[in-house]
Amino acid sequence: MQPFELITVSTVPEAIKVQAGSSTAQQGADIRFIAGGTNLVDYMKLNVETPRQLVDINALPLDRIEALQDGGMKLGALARNSDVARHEEVQRKYPVLSQALLSGASAQLRNMATTAGNLLQKTRCVYYRDTAFGCNKRTPGSGCSAIGGHNRMLAILGTSGSCIASNPSDQNIALAALDATVHITGKTGDRKVPISSFFLLPGATPQRETVLEPGDLITHVTVPALPSDAKSAYLKLRDRASYEFALASAAIVMEQKNGHISFIRVAMGGVGSVPWRSHEAEKVLHAKAPTPANFRAAAEAALHGARPQSQNGFKVELAKRCLTHALTQVSKQA
Ligand code: SF4
Repeated sequence: MQPFELITVSTVPEAIKVQAGSSTAQQGADIRFIAGGTNLVDYMKLNVETPRQLVDINALPLDRIEALQDGGMKLGALARNSDVARHEEVQRKYPVLSQALLSGASAQLRNMATTAGNLLQKTRCVYYRDTAFGCNKRTPGSGCSAIGGHNRMLAILGTSGSCIASNPSDQNIALAALDATVHITGKTGDRKVPISSFFLLPGATPQRETVLEPGDLITHVTVPALPSDAKSAYLKLRDRASYEFALASAAIVMEQKNGHISFIRVAMGGVGSVPWRSHEAEKVLHAKAPTPANFRAAAEAALHGARPQSQNGFKVELAKRCLTHALTQVSKQA
């Protein structure tokens, strides 16, 4: 690990001011915020991230989990994953979020990992972690070793010729299905970014993963209220039952009225370069009866643009079955 300076801040303006001196808020930032550290410290040990300064933001008052007047919820950037997952109102209003969080990592990691840190969780592409190999995300212009290499775990949707990494987070898939909003404060004030716009497709610049700029601090995430009879669930398929990333996952929010689907949101994990909201699947299902045929048609639509690599062609059918099964599960809750 490279040497670094640890700075502790106690106010949000102080945190913004220090991090605004960084060259970037993306891969290779020389000044980084640290909270739980469950992801960043790993990459510092591997010299994948080598910040000269770490800004410890754990003292900031950003850890509250609150119900909002409009029926939604506010999740502080520093709220620990385990606290969000076990929060009574989160479990009642958004089972999909609680289930997604509890399916990720280990209990110890969830006790440290935060809402904002999970939003920024890095890919588990093996080449990103290994500085002996080319990786455009880690070192722009050095090539993508995963194309034609070990790519079984990687993405089949939203990839580019520069990067095929998948977003590894479970939380982010649930937040995509819940249409959450990321609240950011920075040098130019506060702004709200819909989660659908927060993550960037890799394109030719996979080192840029989000819209964050130097000095930007995520303060909280808001989750809007759902229709009163909406049900939700998260289904994760993986190689082993715990402490493993998704091969394919599905986050579903559904409401039914008079035997038809009146409200539907679909997001998928393990298959997308970003948390993958499938408007295609939603379009197929809207106002339709919750039948196996309609669920399969939605899954076909969701994976229509899939571009599998040399080792992950199996994900196309796996993701379809994951989505079909998750839709079936949720439809039976109504
Ligand atoms: Fe790097 Fe992305 Fe290629 Fe993996 S898939 S080696 S993260 S550029």
